[in-house]
Amino acid sequence: MINRLQNVTITKETSTPEETKELAISLAKEAKAGDVILLHGDLGVGKTVFSQGFAQGLKIAEPIQSPTFTILQEYDEGTLPFYHFDVYRISDPEEMYEIGFQDYLYGNGVCLIEWASKVEELLPEEVIEIEIEKNLEKGFDYRMITITYPEERNINI
Ligand code: ADP
Ligand code: MG
Repeated sequence: MINRLQNVTITKETSTPEETKELAISLAKEAKAGDVILLHGDLGVGKTVFSQGFAQGLKIAEPIQSPTFTILQEYDEGTLPFYHFDVYRISDPEEMYEIGFQDYLYGNGVCLIEWASKVEELLPEEVIEIEIEKNLEKGFDYRMITITYPEERNINI
């Protein structure tokens, strides 16, 4: 890669699921068509909770289910089309072609991808990354949320 994008990293801490949703709502308000958001973190850390808040921020009223078994849930009723992926069960990134992954990535909506590292080789260079981590020393419901995005994007959260 010749021109590596410069990234900005911000860190937020939450101590309830509601606070994580609030953060996701504010990020959703900054979202644009074509955004690809990667969600990293262990099982049960709050990726789906974050996705629910994000959908709320896009004014999607429908309840957000974890797409663990379906890989993709699509919501077209909000301010932007929302493509919610959970690629945990993908064993070969090639499987993503079968569901038309590239069309979603370069489409008119926002892609939010839980377990995105499983399909790393298929992802575009310009992404927004969210890492959610626990720290049990700080309490069971404590989460540290690290958001990384290209400098060109003025994200205000
Ligand atoms: P994942 O999708 O990463 O596997 P989920 O979002 O399904 O995880 O589950 C996260 C769980 O952690 C939920 O039961 C949620 O209530 C709980 N939780 C506790 N504290 C927080 C927090 N600060 N932020 C997000 N979720 C939290
Ligand atoms: Mg999940």
